[in-house]
Amino acid sequence: MENIIKRETICVQGGWIPKNGEPRVLPIYQSTTFKYDNTEEMADLFDLKKDGYFYTRLQNPTNDAVANKIASLEGGVGAVLTSSGQAANFYAVFNICEAGDHIVASNEIYGGTYNLFGVTLKKLGINCTFVNPESSEEEISNAFQPNTKLLFGETISNPGCKVLDIEKFARIAHAHRVPLIVDNTFPTPINCRPFEWGADIVTHSTTKYMDGHAAQVGGCVVDSGNFEWDEKYPGLTKQDDSYHGLIYTKTFGKKAYITKLVAQLMRDLGSIPSPFNSFLLNIGLETLHLRMARHCENAQRIAEFLNDDSRVSWVHYCGLKDDDFHELATKYMPNGSCGVIAFGLKGDRQTAIRFMDSLKLISIVTHVADARTCVLHPASHTHRQLSDEQLIQAGVAPDLIRLSVGIEDVNDLIVDIKQALDKI
Ligand code: PLP
Repeated sequence: MENIIKRETICVQGGWIPKNGEPRVLPIYQSTTFKYDNTEEMADLFDLKKDGYFYTRLQNPTNDAVANKIASLEGGVGAVLTSSGQAANFYAVFNICEAGDHIVASNEIYGGTYNLFGVTLKKLGINCTFVNPESSEEEISNAFQPNTKLLFGETISNPGCKVLDIEKFARIAHAHRVPLIVDNTFPTPINCRPFEWGADIVTHSTTKYMDGHAAQVGGCVVDSGNFEWDEKYPGLTKQDDSYHGLIYTKTFGKKAYITKLVAQLMRDLGSIPSPFNSFLLNIGLETLHLRMARHCENAQRIAEFLNDDSRVSWVHYCGLKDDDFHELATKYMPNGSCGVIAFGLKGDRQTAIRFMDSLKLISIVTHVADARTCVLHPASHTHRQLSDEQLIQAGVAPDLIRLSVGIEDVNDLIVDIKQALDKI
């Protein structure tokens, strides 16, 4: 399999390479534990002296095969699956931060991540400064403090559909000797590989396109292996007393970050996916390259249709030539971005509600990036407790409708949208 370089082939065949007589399909190792013939072998595993499985909370062959497939897709040195995208973003940060530390994050990120950083991490003593990703390098740099440990952004933001200037963010992060973490959920590595533009760590909600069928909730953290960890990160460069004084950077080199994440965070906090969920995720990954192309093709047609309709007040889709982020999208995602469109209708919150309630084929669900086209109005759903003013502060326009275009026949979708627009 060493010759596999194309993402399409990795999607189909990566991760699980059966040996002679082994199952062709990735097996589900639905076992909490693994048997050994003597105590010493097991002891070596506990001491991280040997590779191997002993307890699924730390590592499991099914989970690892899928993690390795995602690591190859992103071009990283290693990856870990988590039980959700939220867990992935939490672990990606908590692996290198502790009480007293500070992080800088784009304010154009998923609401759950915004809350995790702004509220929950604060309770653990980690403070976050949010920045407008469109600000100048100097302005973003001003948010850094001596105790800042990382910079965070989303390749395409949920729900705003804004494209991150990854190279700019990487330059700022590296000027401050901290890693750039990028949540690459929306474009997936089929359309963008942030490591190629200077990101150091990538995270995913695999619940979305990677699975693609809304069958499992999951996440993933991928390590590029490129960041030079120094004394600013004592958890990686100083002795770990919970592992007999082992130093991650010395023992694991380029895999220091990802090994620590498994050895410490999974050991102490858990949050692994069930091997069955990883099996489902793997089936989704096998067609990711085909689905992403169709999502983009359909979304482009629908974005153009909405853009031309007089009842629509605005459309954000970076595939549109007149979109503010078209230039960045052309640079970072020349083959397409994703299937998510944000748009607003002329009218008020009630107009958006009438439109959504009139849809027949397109369903209202709290989900995105799925094979089935779905729609959400954050002001009525995820953010319904906020006033219009508060919504704007949170970066969500009160009239924003998030349309996640699936892989159905696009003409059927347009017919549905048309008839719903006729009813507003
Ligand atoms: N990151 C992004 C960009 C998301 O859109 C989401 C969820 O919508 C998450 C992370 C959280 O993922 P999960 O729902 O799998 O916990």
